Amino acid sequence: MIMLINAKTRIIGLIGYPVEHSLSPKMHNAAFQSLGLNYCYVVMPVAPEDISEALKGIRALNILGVNVTMPHKQTVIHMLNKVDDEARFIGAVNTIINENGFLKGFNTDGRGFMESLREAVIDPLHKVVFIIGAGGAARAVGYYLAQKASKIYLYNRNQQRGLKLVQDLKKLNENVIFVENLSKIPESDIVINASSLGLKAGDPLPLNPDFLRGDHIVCDLIYWDTPFINVAKRKGCKTLNGQGMLLWQGALAFEVWTGVTPPIDVMREALEKGLGST
Ligand code: NDP
Repeated sequence: MIMLINAKTRIIGLIGYPVEHSLSPKMHNAAFQSLGLNYCYVVMPVAPEDISEALKGIRALNILGVNVTMPHKQTVIHMLNKVDDEARFIGAVNTIINENGFLKGFNTDGRGFMESLREAVIDPLHKVVFIIGAGGAARAVGYYLAQKASKIYLYNRNQQRGLKLVQDLKKLNENVIFVENLSKIPESDIVINASSLGLKAGDPLPLNPDFLRGDHIVCDLIYWDTPFINVAKRKGCKTLNGQGMLLWQGALAFEVWTGVTPPIDVMREALEKGLGST
């Protein structure tokens, strides 16, 4: 990809540790190029102990904005000038814009997931949703699903963390119920794996697949077809992996920085190419 860097180029970055495997530079630089925008997206590895200095650096170097990934997503929330309601609820920020030294934080993961559902013609309105997991991703999708679904069941290995998310989601929807164990799964329309089970080869499935029926809609937030998604496909379920969420969280961040409607097909193509080559 040839990009013209000149004295007016605005820098956008990704801060995290590690960040070298990120597909975000491919996705955003393809988008900037296709629209002729003079921005450049680069990765910036920032060790945990350097995060506060890095934020000062964003101001000092007049970097336009950054994406934030692990391990900084939660830490930065206390270091910004303003954080939107969604990011505050989730307790994590994945996008920052620098407005003349005033750093504003957002979290585009939950909206990204909802956009991916919309594209896949999956409507959670008045549906019963079963979420597995209570980490940052579960909090992000839960925030939006609680505002649409008729009922949410939530299971998490660490009960305390799960119960905290249930308590928080109850502020948005009183029908949020904690599931104590997976010996029997609750009656639901949509099952979502928001845990990291499936990221590593050899991980167990997030639940016993005997519970899945062909009329379940099964989602996994991991970017590729996990063994869980594959078993659901074999059962005849409609399925959705996390690639669309990754795409749309990026597209929404792009809009925060540029104020321009993102060229979604260009971003999708760059992401698919990147995923194919990893
Ligand atoms: P967190 O580290 O915040 O949370 C991890 C979650 O997975 C917790 O609920 C944790 O449970 C659970 N978990 C981890 N290991 C196990 C295990 N061995 N058995 C049972 N449960 C386990 O991570 P995130 O919430 O940020 O990410 C979760 C997943 O979502 C990841 O796979 C990530 O790739 C994906 N993701 C996808 C995005 C996208 O754009 N598509 C965006 C963000 C995340 P416990 O509390 O008990 O430890």
